Amino acid sequence: MAQKQRRPVTASDVQQNSSETAHSAHEHEHGEHLHEAPNADFLSNLFGGGEVDHTTGEEVDAFVQADEFFNYYIQSSFDSDGNGVDGRIAILDDAAFEAEWVAYAIQRRNPNTGALFTEAEARAFGVNAFEDNGRIVLHKNRGTPGTAVHESMHLFTHSSYATTMGFNVNEGTTELFTRLLCSRVNIRREHNYQAQHDAMYAVATGLDKGHNLLARAYFDGQYKALKDAMNTVPDRYDNWLALMQAGNFTAAAALF
Ligand SMILES: [Zn+2]
Repeated sequence: MAQKQRRPVTASDVQQNSSETAHSAHEHEHGEHLHEAPNADFLSNLFGGGEVDHTTGEEVDAFVQADEFFNYYIQSSFDSDGNGVDGRIAILDDAAFEAEWVAYAIQRRNPNTGALFTEAEARAFGVNAFEDNGRIVLHKNRGTPGTAVHESMHLFTHSSYATTMGFNVNEGTTELFTRLLCSRVNIRREHNYQAQHDAMYAVATGLDKGHNLLARAYFDGQYKALKDAMNTVPDRYDNWLALMQAGNFTAAAALF
């Protein structure tokens, strides 16, 4: 079957109308990788852990569907009832959140050790939220209204992205798209995964149609166009990925 020709949708031309129909459905499985947002949010600390006005799943779905860029890449992840993350977000109190986080973490690798989390490491890790097999778990007192958007991006990403790219690229790309959507709907978002975000922003703005190339990889698991664009400089994709995986964000960004 011939590949459907798609008009590129850039981050800057979303005001234009599009006659695009839904792009082909992709396999969308939820990965086993760790998801977390750092426990460093300004508002929740400033106000001593009051209840966060978390963005609801219904709101995230509406934001995505009203935005040409995001809807283009994400619509195939919505179910037949038109729901993306609606119905998939749980907001838990401290005890329930801690119990679910520890149960989740001890089956996964601690990025600081490379081994499975111990229970003590999990309790000390300090997360605002995580996404587990299509379910987003938020702490009612942690994070900001942008936290649900970040975790929603993890839910919408292609299952191959985190394992292909590694923790830093995955979180940086998640944060890149989180901030793009938040900025368009006036949700405040800052500081989370700042270094990873900045490195991915350098890719998004340093390549022609960089946001689109990253979106095809992140949401659809299509890497070829991104690699080809990077490798207009010989070996840049491999060099960049190695620097990102090593946490050398400044050097990685300097390649663009
Ligand atoms: Zn994350």
